[in-house]
Amino acid sequence: MRISAATKKPAPGSKPVRGMRSRTAAVLAAVRKHGSTKTYDEIAAMLGTTLYRIASLAARYGIKKPYVAGKLRAKQRLQHRPDNATILATIKAHATTKSRREIAALLGVSLCCICYVMRRAGFKKPLVQSKRLATLAHQREIVLAHGSTHSLVELGRMLGVCRQRAWQICNRWRVKRKKYVYSKFGWMSSRQLRKLARQPDKSLAAIAAEAGATGTALAKELHRRGIEPFTKRERNARLLKKGMGFCSLCRRAKPFDQFRRGDSRSSRLDNRCLECRRVCAAQWRKRRLK
Ligand SMILES: [Zn+2]
Repeated sequence: MRISAATKKPAPGSKPVRGMRSRTAAVLAAVRKHGSTKTYDEIAAMLGTTLYRIASLAARYGIKKPYVAGKLRAKQRLQHRPDNATILATIKAHATTKSRREIAALLGVSLCCICYVMRRAGFKKPLVQSKRLATLAHQREIVLAHGSTHSLVELGRMLGVCRQRAWQICNRWRVKRKKYVYSKFGWMSSRQLRKLARQPDKSLAAIAAEAGATGTALAKELHRRGIEPFTKRERNARLLKKGMGFCSLCRRAKPFDQFRRGDSRSSRLDNRCLECRRVCAAQWRKRRLK
């Protein structure tokens, strides 16, 4: 049922205008009569119409209905609620054996009410030790079983706590968590990384620099994946074991007697072979004479 467009909006609080439909008038009368004791829901149920219609009509005719639901409920709760002295006595009686939540359920009041009464009386309830210990044991079990394999969010979900709390619980039981380490080589497959680390002509630092990272970062990533690099250092070490050195100019491996001593280097050999050294010296002499 809707009001015709011809019906003008009357001034707030005015009586229904003449010619108004009788049902609209009945609704308004009901709202005026029961407004202070009944909710819109109840009035709607009484008249057999919808909540929306009642509320919109009341708004249209400027009827300000006091909000009663909250008051009613509060009144009802107060009627059923035991007085504060009884609540306090019950809390004190069960303080060492029951949790606050259980006492609240026992009295049929809310947890807030229990806390309020305790705060007002300045009473501090001890923790129920057995329950606390049971909770701790439960947490420990979960954290020990999944702490090293699951993320903190997942652990939190299992424990029913937040991520930060899950972290605290892990610390409490000294659970070693797998650390997530960011690496610039993280995107590479192990196959790609193995190929990258097998460049006997370059040092590890040079390889890493080409990829835009530091040698340490590359070394760490290789170590993490268990990949053995084969770079300049490994190649030289292998040659050294065979009694050979590597000339950095002609890029050939030659026996020890083809090198001079080079005390500053780890291999104790010069970086150029005797032949290359001779050529270099000749060129230098030539340049100097010019
Ligand atoms: Zn050479």
